[in-house]
Amino acid sequence: MTAQETAPVSAGRGEPLVVLSGVQKHFGQLHALKDIDLTVTRGEVVVVIGPSGSGKSTLCRTINRLETIDEGTITLDGQPLPAEGKELAALRAEVGMVFQSFNLFAHKTILENVTLGPIKVRGMKKEAAEKKARELLERVGVGHQAEKYPAQLSGGQQQRVAIARALAMEPKVMLFDEPTSALDPEMIKEVLDVMVDLAEQGMTMIVVTHEMGFARTAADRVVFMADGAIVEENTPEEFFTNPSSDRAKDFLGKIL
Ligand code: ADP
Ligand code: MG
Repeated sequence: MTAQETAPVSAGRGEPLVVLSGVQKHFGQLHALKDIDLTVTRGEVVVVIGPSGSGKSTLCRTINRLETIDEGTITLDGQPLPAEGKELAALRAEVGMVFQSFNLFAHKTILENVTLGPIKVRGMKKEAAEKKARELLERVGVGHQAEKYPAQLSGGQQQRVAIARALAMEPKVMLFDEPTSALDPEMIKEVLDVMVDLAEQGMTMIVVTHEMGFARTAADRVVFMADGAIVEENTPEEFFTNPSSDRAKDFLGKIL
């Protein structure tokens, strides 16, 4: 697969693509996102790390509007996120999301899992959708599993299908929320390899992960969150060798 096919947004690299400005989110009394300002540029790979409960998942979920925000603005490619209807469905296609749990449809084949969105949301013809799906499944290394059902695949294979499914929608940005946390150790690398490949192809990515090897090799920038706020952000080299905040030092001391 060519870079063009997997990274339709590679033109305009470096321009702002996802912009969060003054974003506030509460869950009742809990201030889950505190005045978040974050600009992710086209082609950039941003790794978000931080302790459990710091708001990483909530941050991801606001970007495809699985969560609403109380204050502030979020734009994708210069447009505010749509609130509802067809526009919201289109947004969810443009913001590909891969979760910890693979969330494949259990009663559909691997191929059907990948073609469903393009046919329903993008209005693609079945044959074209299947051709593209097979290419993507090949690309993530599960081309020979297309006719199987999710339960017949390993966790690592299912997660790679989940990535192919998101890519089939030709997203502008891919969000990964701890995509390898539920995997057995021997399967983590095969998923990270696909993500590294995607990053090298120029995909814009926001990745929540505890895989510091991935952050070091693939991230353009590391964003460290604690208690709902962005505490510090830097290049991976700087962040890992020379964290400036006590919170980050403390966190790195525990995980490295
Ligand atoms: P992280 O992904 O960094 O572990 P989360 O974004 O999942 O953190 O959660 C941030 C905080 O918001 C946590 O205290 C969590 O319990 C709380 N939270 C998340 N989602 C909800 C929700 N739907 N309702 C109430 N509280 C929530
Ligand atoms: Mg989380």
